[in-house]
Amino acid sequence: MHVTMVKKRLASGEPCRKCAEAETWLQSRGLWDEIDRVVWADEADPASEGMRLALEHQVALAPFFLVARAPGAAPEVVTSAVALGRMFAAASMAQSYDDLTIDAATAALADKSPHEVVDWAFARWGKSCAIAFSGAEDVVLIDLAAKSGHAFSVFCLDTGRLFPETLEYIDTVRAHYGIDIEIVSPDAAPLEALVREKGLMSFRRDGHEECCGIRKVAPLNRTLQGRAAWMTGQRPDQSPATRNGLATITRDAQRGLWKLNPLASWSSEDVWAHIRAFDVPFNPLHAHGFRSIGCAPCTRAVHPGQHEREGRWWWEDATQRECGLHVPKDPRPLAG
Ligand code: SF4
Repeated sequence: MHVTMVKKRLASGEPCRKCAEAETWLQSRGLWDEIDRVVWADEADPASEGMRLALEHQVALAPFFLVARAPGAAPEVVTSAVALGRMFAAASMAQSYDDLTIDAATAALADKSPHEVVDWAFARWGKSCAIAFSGAEDVVLIDLAAKSGHAFSVFCLDTGRLFPETLEYIDTVRAHYGIDIEIVSPDAAPLEALVREKGLMSFRRDGHEECCGIRKVAPLNRTLQGRAAWMTGQRPDQSPATRNGLATITRDAQRGLWKLNPLASWSSEDVWAHIRAFDVPFNPLHAHGFRSIGCAPCTRAVHPGQHEREGRWWWEDATQRECGLHVPKDPRPLAG
């Protein structure tokens, strides 16, 4: 694909804010290098190349992208960075994964250590594969990614209900590894509507699904758009009721990308051995009996001998204690 980005320069001489945001978004997903040309639509100069292209393609929005799928082909007009990201993801899958079925991917990663799985994923996808960092022991994934030497990206779902210790810890990790961590917030409108209608603690009465849907699942779906893969710190021993049989790689069919669980072969002891061996910074709540860490109202410390999942949504049935981030796996191969 050949991609031209048209950015607007305002009559005041200032660059357009939405164009800058689109550029940042593309950079965060490792897609900026896929832009072949950038031209300016100068409001003060109707003869500027970008203004001529806007007129020619009848586009009134900025930025926009002209995407030619083959040399000499008429370009398609794409009016958002997210839509462009989806095109890149679809093209990347079609180009690179005709031969990668779920069986082939599973075979490639069979008996591989978490280090090797992380290395395999970021060598293949780079920043288009994102680590979902929860602010707990999944920091190990960041440590492994940093040691791999490949480009990678990290995001964190800031639900608005995280412990202050977790917020401090996220910044500690950011500084320790010298990385960007994309902080993803819930959309204001559905959140305000929920709180207006049901209050701040509706999950105690109605179950956590609705609140998690707004504060976690919808923001997750938004941030995964345009990516090729995502990576989580899930392990079977975190929840025997819901995570038994966890695979190292699956196809997240609902969201249209690959999902990796590099720690699927590790236990809690393995994770903590790695944290201690490599002086990985950890959330201080772990030292106070919190073994699984999520939102403050839905997480509590557990006693010795209790399973870590007993500290999460303890008023609900054990088989319901997932937040909806981890949709059922689809064993079908990715379509080319
Ligand atoms: S864990 Fe609790 S507070 Fe956090 S999003 Fe889910 S229900 Fe809401």
